Amino acid sequence: MLPEFDETYRVLLLSSEVAPFAKTGGLADVAGSLPKALAMLGNDVRVVLPRYRGIQGLRTLGDFPVWVNGRRETAILRQSFIRAHLSNVERTVPVYFIDNYHYFDRDGLYGYADDAERFAFFSRAALEAARFLGFTPSIVHGNDWQTGPALLLLKTAYAKDPVVGRSAGVFTIHNLQYQGNFDRSALGILGVDETHFHPDGVEFYGQVSYMKAGINYADVVNTVSNTYAQEIQTPACGHGMDGVLRRRSRDLFGIVNGLNYHEFNPATDPRIYRQYDADHLDAKAVNKHELQKEMGLPVADVPLAGMVARLVSQKGLDLLLGVADQLPSLRLQLVVLGTGDPHYEEALRRLQQQLPGQVAVAIGFNTVLAQRIYAGSDLFLMPSQFEPCGLGQLLALRYGTIPVVRATGGLKDTVADYDAALGTGTGFVFQEYTPNALLSTLRRALELYERRDAWNRMVRQAMAADFSWNRSAVEYMGLYAAARAKAGQTGAARAATA
Ligand code: ADP
Repeated sequence: MLPEFDETYRVLLLSSEVAPFAKTGGLADVAGSLPKALAMLGNDVRVVLPRYRGIQGLRTLGDFPVWVNGRRETAILRQSFIRAHLSNVERTVPVYFIDNYHYFDRDGLYGYADDAERFAFFSRAALEAARFLGFTPSIVHGNDWQTGPALLLLKTAYAKDPVVGRSAGVFTIHNLQYQGNFDRSALGILGVDETHFHPDGVEFYGQVSYMKAGINYADVVNTVSNTYAQEIQTPACGHGMDGVLRRRSRDLFGIVNGLNYHEFNPATDPRIYRQYDADHLDAKAVNKHELQKEMGLPVADVPLAGMVARLVSQKGLDLLLGVADQLPSLRLQLVVLGTGDPHYEEALRRLQQQLPGQVAVAIGFNTVLAQRIYAGSDLFLMPSQFEPCGLGQLLALRYGTIPVVRATGGLKDTVADYDAALGTGTGFVFQEYTPNALLSTLRRALELYERRDAWNRMVRQAMAADFSWNRSAVEYMGLYAAARAKAGQTGAARAATA
């Protein structure tokens, strides 16, 4: 349980990507949205990221030296803003960019031979930026392996620093699969001595792991849903880190990501065919008919299931393809949008050829079509093998499209299974990772679809679920309170030791 909090925080939030400046995945959305919601709650949040090639229009604040790999490098500090609005309240979140042409003026974000040095530099430079600015954070909040060294440095080289030394450290795992593991020479790059090269420090199977540095040196750790926080403590889902995470289980929390409710709002979304809200579901049906037309399916009042996903095994495509034989026996149309593994792309194309009046497939990345699928479908399929948080089901709920999901990670935490006796629930949830489980759950959903009043009630229940950032940001404040308590930096703890 996260504690109550009675103060606001000065947060230095480090992320290797932040929307809209640099994005390769969901981390950028979190790092772009969470600070805005925190600022709306009265916190003073400053975001730090590298300045990659192509990021323009920044103000230059100055430069300072950064020690890395035994050398003195230079960071140029530049600044921009992200702005948050809520009715007539506006908050501005400063975004600081660590610029160094050698390290970051490249086409991509990661995957370079010197990544260990690039992100050692970034992590140290972010702490130096706070010193340069005279910003005394109460919380240093790192995200994923690229910022792991900052948590380590906070508790070692900077432990007595007058600006950052009293900060509590928070580390968020967005994707445990990418760990930033490097050979032992990374110790020298970080400027950390051998005493930290042990399993409760940074050592991971003979290597130096930046992810592990984040996990072991932060005061508290979280990941992006409660269930995923439990799952990663098991050998099956821990990517080799389950032992470390079990050792930290008392300080390990789960907080689901929010959804940007302003950008994703069926009442105002310009990408969909017809705007609607929970009181005007007839307009949602217009979206369905237009989607059927656009995808070349018969325009009819047949239940329509949508899927928008990276086409990789994680997303449960084997289950979907596993029920393909049974599709003709269901009164159901299927629309899939995605791109990814060629063999899944090919299998879906074949399915469309076999069942042309029932299945329509679009291969590619298309954010407009994606929204039209969220708006125009009755059901949204996410039969994932694992899912740290998942955004698709949150979008589906917001657009009144009933999610059909497997009970894993964030899917389990955000979708409530329909209870026929009580009429409660926001979706259909199954446990077993088998085609049969998916099939029987689809049948359950299709039965309810025929009882239109009950169905519409469920759609309204789905649309009433709150997965806005505001709710998650309040939980992050609880996490920050836990970190302060752990670091012995709460008001009470300070008074006791004074
Ligand atoms: P993951 O981050 O594992 O890919 P999520 O469900 O958390 O899965 O987020 C996926 C996001 O990317 C959703 O917003 C989804 O709509 C979007 N998306 C995935 N594939 C496509 C695509 N082919 N075209 C447009 N948007 C897509």
